[in-house]
Amino acid sequence: MKNFYGMTKDELCNYLVENGFKKFNGKQLYEWVYKKQTTEVSLMTNISKKLGAFVRDNFSFKGLTTKTHQISSDGTEKFLFELADGNSIETVLMRHNYGNSVCVTTQLGCNIGCTFCASGLQKKKRDLDASEIVMQVLKVAEITKERVSHVVIMGIGEPFDNYHNTMKFINIINDPFGLEIGARHITVSTSGLVPKIIDFSKEDKQVNLAISLHAPNNAVRSSIMKINDVYPIEDVIDAAREYVNATNRRITFEYILLENINDESWHADELSNLLRGLNCYVNLIRYNTVSEFNYVGSSEDRAQRFHRRLLERGITATLRREKGSDIDAACGQLRSKKGNL
Ligand code: SAH
Ligand code: SF4
Repeated sequence: MKNFYGMTKDELCNYLVENGFKKFNGKQLYEWVYKKQTTEVSLMTNISKKLGAFVRDNFSFKGLTTKTHQISSDGTEKFLFELADGNSIETVLMRHNYGNSVCVTTQLGCNIGCTFCASGLQKKKRDLDASEIVMQVLKVAEITKERVSHVVIMGIGEPFDNYHNTMKFINIINDPFGLEIGARHITVSTSGLVPKIIDFSKEDKQVNLAISLHAPNNAVRSSIMKINDVYPIEDVIDAAREYVNATNRRITFEYILLENINDESWHADELSNLLRGLNCYVNLIRYNTVSEFNYVGSSEDRAQRFHRRLLERGITATLRREKGSDIDAACGQLRSKKGNL
């Protein structure tokens, strides 16, 4: 049995052709499952009996089980889903004026172990496969009965440490015969795995790339992100430049504001020097507390001062309003183990 949700349309079409069916049958099945949201073969009026039997015998549509579902005062929703093997993951739905955005998880735990992040408290148990990432989007749409227009790959895990499944996931949700989530409505965030940033810049996709920078120099970055000892900040910036040159797209840098650690005016100055001339945008996020750590998010005043300083130095930046922190659904608060909630 193959899990239907883990197959790109091309893989599905090839598999059908290998088994004596027509390529267009793959498109028909994709439309039924993703556009009309039915996995019930008897309802698929335009497919033959033979294809229907083949689908029943060869594909599984096993979904996720919802363990808990919390709703924040700002409308953000957090789901704890159980996977077929009994492991749990968290997925978040955010409501914006431009549509609904789902934040998906890509791994059980995370090996990058940034010192401020709840998701890294559990070492990686395994990668999610593409179907398990796709099903998060489907399940949220099914539960809320609302269309998902945007996807951010910013839940638990480092997506570029699970590159193959992340790319497959993007391909599946982007497919015009499927969910048809526009590439420009999809954002992938990485802690800065340089070789994978280079690979990503060669993919022919209009997907947005965000890099978790969080510091203006190696000393600060290494103290909060161990990955910086492997890929130092200058290599990350070089890779970002390569991405911008190859794709002609703007790159996003995420910068969490940690009081007294990376939020001084001279940090803003250093950051503007580092990014000068690069087609980029800085997304400032006030750190969300995680009970196991002592970090404190910058005060509103300090955050605004940092923001202004960047703008004065010609760097495009926004100070983001956090969503869902009252239900631990904000950035960096997701976990893959319910026991920790
Ligand atoms: N592993 C990827 C994507 C998931 S994390 C990455 O690190 O980029 C998504 C974003 O949330 C990252 O920028 C991450 O650094 C940030 N983050 C982690 N913990 C946070 C916290 N407690 N408050 C605010 N942002 C946090
Ligand atoms: Fe992993 Fe990203 Fe959290 Fe770092 S911030 S531990 S890379 S999920």
